[in-house]
Amino acid sequence: MTNNNPTLFIVVPCFNEQEALPESHSRLSQLMEEMIAAGAVSQQSRLLYVDDGSRDDTWEIINGLASENRRVAAVKLASNSGHQNALMAGLAAAVEHCDITVSIDADLQDDINVIPQMVERYKDGCDIVFGVRRERKTDSWFKRTTAGMFYKMMNRLGVDTINNHADYRLMSRRAVMALLDYKERNLFIRGIVIKLGYKTDCVYYDRSARTAGESKYPLRKMMNFAIDGITSFSVKPVRMVFMVGVLFLIIALIMLVYVLTAYFMGRAVSGWPSLILSVWLVGAFILIGLGIIGEYVGKIYTEVKNRPRYNVDTTIGLDND
Ligand code: UDP
Ligand code: MG
Repeated sequence: MTNNNPTLFIVVPCFNEQEALPESHSRLSQLMEEMIAAGAVSQQSRLLYVDDGSRDDTWEIINGLASENRRVAAVKLASNSGHQNALMAGLAAAVEHCDITVSIDADLQDDINVIPQMVERYKDGCDIVFGVRRERKTDSWFKRTTAGMFYKMMNRLGVDTINNHADYRLMSRRAVMALLDYKERNLFIRGIVIKLGYKTDCVYYDRSARTAGESKYPLRKMMNFAIDGITSFSVKPVRMVFMVGVLFLIIALIMLVYVLTAYFMGRAVSGWPSLILSVWLVGAFILIGLGIIGEYVGKIYTEVKNRPRYNVDTTIGLDND
């Protein structure tokens, strides 16, 4: 049941984005005004900024924007909860006030000019529209190769992902509601969204460089994100450990035969190196296996704790009056 003049909320998670925000906001609000003027979206549409516990002037800037622009709404999280959680907080706040959401990063590396196309696809009956990068010229060589490896590995492990799609997407109200039903703490939103099962489509764009400021995803966060993505959606690593275990067992049997033959031929001392070698190999295998199993046990632990995902401090322009 699509609406021809839907209310659009553009959800923008911001963590220490004081350099990028003013420029990003002026481009987003210009686009918003154009879309409203063209009758593509309703007058109630908003730009919703989520301050993910920034330590710089991001919240002051958002406050300033909200006081001079009535189309700005905001949520401030009490502490830094991470990109995925900040996005969930924004979507949860938006869903009560809108028909569709578009999530986009504050640095506008994703081309905002395809948002009208996304809205068109929604009107054609899609619940989810993915923004997909055509190429990644402007990302560093390192980012491009590591991201490429990540997507490839995910596919190998049987996790559905859309290549070169980050968290730039349109979601209808009911798609967001369904997403919010996923209560897991180890969030990999782009993996869940595909599982929702609603009708989807893609729009394509070229990714540009950050407008200002630097990436808030250092290698450490990127690694964590990749590990979360894999272990939240796939148990294949555990099966791989099992297969390696079987292989080691076969090698151990061959070793045994070798050592026994050496013993009966009176060359026992020469069997010693191979024996000590296998002890080390098996030890290494047990440690690796424990590490991977520990990863899953750790996940069970955090899910069982069932902590709140974030804690909202203040909101602007979201009261129903
Ligand atoms: N972000 C956030 N919380 C964090 C880290 C990042 O809300 O802990 C936001 C950030 O402000 C940006 C988006 O997530 O809007 C993506 O971050 P960034 O552009 O630095 O990632 P990259 O494009 O380098 O992968
Ligand atoms: Mg970015």
